[in-house]
Amino acid sequence: EEKILQVRNLQTHFTSDSGVVKAVDGVSFEVGKGETLGIVGESGSGKSVTSLSIMRLLKDTPGEIAGGEILYEGRDLTKISEREMRKIRGNEIAMIFQEPMTSLNPVYKIGRQLEESIILHMKVSKKAARERSIQMLNAVGISRPEKIVFEFPHQLSGGMRQRVMIAMAMACNPKVLIADEPTTALDVTIQAQILELMKSLTTTTDTAILLITHDLGVVAEMCDRVVVMYGGRAVEESDVVSIFTNPKHPYTQGLLESIPKIGDRVDRLSSIPGNVPIPAHMPMGCKFAPRCPHAMDICWEKEPAFDKLTDNHSVRCWLHEEVPTDEPNFVGSSK
Ligand code: SF4
Ligand code: MG
Repeated sequence: EEKILQVRNLQTHFTSDSGVVKAVDGVSFEVGKGETLGIVGESGSGKSVTSLSIMRLLKDTPGEIAGGEILYEGRDLTKISEREMRKIRGNEIAMIFQEPMTSLNPVYKIGRQLEESIILHMKVSKKAARERSIQMLNAVGISRPEKIVFEFPHQLSGGMRQRVMIAMAMACNPKVLIADEPTTALDVTIQAQILELMKSLTTTTDTAILLITHDLGVVAEMCDRVVVMYGGRAVEESDVVSIFTNPKHPYTQGLLESIPKIGDRVDRLSSIPGNVPIPAHMPMGCKFAPRCPHAMDICWEKEPAFDKLTDNHSVRCWLHEEVPTDEPNFVGSSK
């Protein structure tokens, strides 16, 4: 299967007054053509910074890519010029954000925004762009698009704005769609409709999706594979069925246990005691040790490697790795 996007050992660092913070610290994953990969974690896990790194949208932040590769169709996006990146961004790799109000321009009508984006990326006439806009608004289930193009973002509901964002993102037939919490701000019914829409649009176009979310329900609905992130690290990766039926990392297990019953109105990840560590104060060993019910001595001292259990399932946890016995300073060492 052809990989459209390969992220290898990505390091994204933020420089602050208190020093360098490794927001993303050696994350690797691959996305195949037409595949949907979920990146799951709490806020602060590095999942959004990962997506901004791929889009090279760190400019307005104190962050920068400090290492690793982001291969898109074999080209390393960390190495190309901003000019080349602009041809890819929004065109071949498009992004949908959580709150479309911040990504739609409030002073321009919907039609103009769609058309400008289409003209910029597809180099077509204004008339062709108008036709494509109407066609895309139809495709995302907006009725009477001929009327909607003359409205401003604030005249639309949240669900409608998110549909417009999807129409804009999909208008140029991107090969990769990055969706960062695309439905978090919407109510449950609209959320389901938007996810269904993303799924059907991307199935017909073979677009790969990188879905950033804290919501395991969304993952179950949408994803083929999942990467679970914690403290800037990937801690588990597998196909979606294995994540739900056979989770190996205590953090993943905690996430699954914290999924509320239908009707509960709690934040899904909040029931694991403790918080994601502040990157500047990361534990020396396993980043999850302060919250882990299974933490052993070695966990506090040395970070486990991200190792394959099977071809299809990797985990970063001492419970699934042989604890080294040849290093005398470890507690519990046999020598
Ligand atoms: Fe828990 Fe240790 Fe595994 Fe970390 S390495 S998740 S602390 S058992
Ligand atoms: Mg985020």
